[in-house]
Amino acid sequence: MPSHRLAKIEVEGLEIIGYSIAGEETVIAMPGLDVCFDIGKAPDQVISINNVLLTHGHMDHAAGLAYYLSHRNFCGIADGTVVAPAGLIRPIQQIIDAWGRLDGNEVPANLVSVAPGDEFKIKPNLFARVFPVKHSRGSVGYTVIEKRKKIKPEYAGLNGPQIVELKKQGVVIDNPVELPIVTYLGDSQCVDYSQLDYVAKSKILITECTFFEDDHIDRAKAGRHIHIDNFSRLLENMDNEHIVLIHTTQRTPLRMVRKKLKETLPADIYKKVILLMDRKNIQ
Ligand SMILES: [Zn+2]
Ligand SMILES: [Zn+2]
Repeated sequence: MPSHRLAKIEVEGLEIIGYSIAGEETVIAMPGLDVCFDIGKAPDQVISINNVLLTHGHMDHAAGLAYYLSHRNFCGIADGTVVAPAGLIRPIQQIIDAWGRLDGNEVPANLVSVAPGDEFKIKPNLFARVFPVKHSRGSVGYTVIEKRKKIKPEYAGLNGPQIVELKKQGVVIDNPVELPIVTYLGDSQCVDYSQLDYVAKSKILITECTFFEDDHIDRAKAGRHIHIDNFSRLLENMDNEHIVLIHTTQRTPLRMVRKKLKETLPADIYKKVILLMDRKNIQ
């Protein structure tokens, strides 16, 4: 029985399931990559995902952590992994311990502390690279990157036995390549993220744009969020094929959000934007 209705979209053959309204709840799961960006209030649909990548400690993004971990234990699933900025690990452990005392059952957890520049291995060939974002102190974003090896052009025509022979001789016949699949910015004010090559080249960019009305510019600044007025600046040097927009507020109806996006963004960027919480995406 689902906790509440989540949005569901498919992009590049990958399912994105989630819910994201500013100040209420943000949880974005990608089951095909086995990651959940932030945990919101831990809806049932994301409990089986093994890795939670937490961007910051605001309650609308992090409230469900203890329930996520404890419910996995209840269902007999292996301990959940929570990847979080270093400064959050201690308070997360304290909350889990307090819940354990309250509940009468220990809450098993695998907590992984990360800092910008780190990489967390999700599975062989799949990594989450951590980078800093500008929101609350220590906030981070994540890019999920597939790492592959690509045969060097000079060896491309060789057959199996020839490749085996070269490898035996210790010849390196391939180059490592990185395919950034998805970047999740979490909450952030407008920063030129295109300077991070793997962010700019991610096939999918999941980004907030919280405020859309002229008299909300000060709110955006105070809360370190993105306002529609600087959203096109955030996107102008990016190379992403799909832009999934999350974290709008209840204050602005979605038809107004769509109208503002259409008015503000260049047409070639506008057509890449998917509004996660669009009514047609809600299950
Ligand atoms: Zn938020
Ligand atoms: Zn926040």
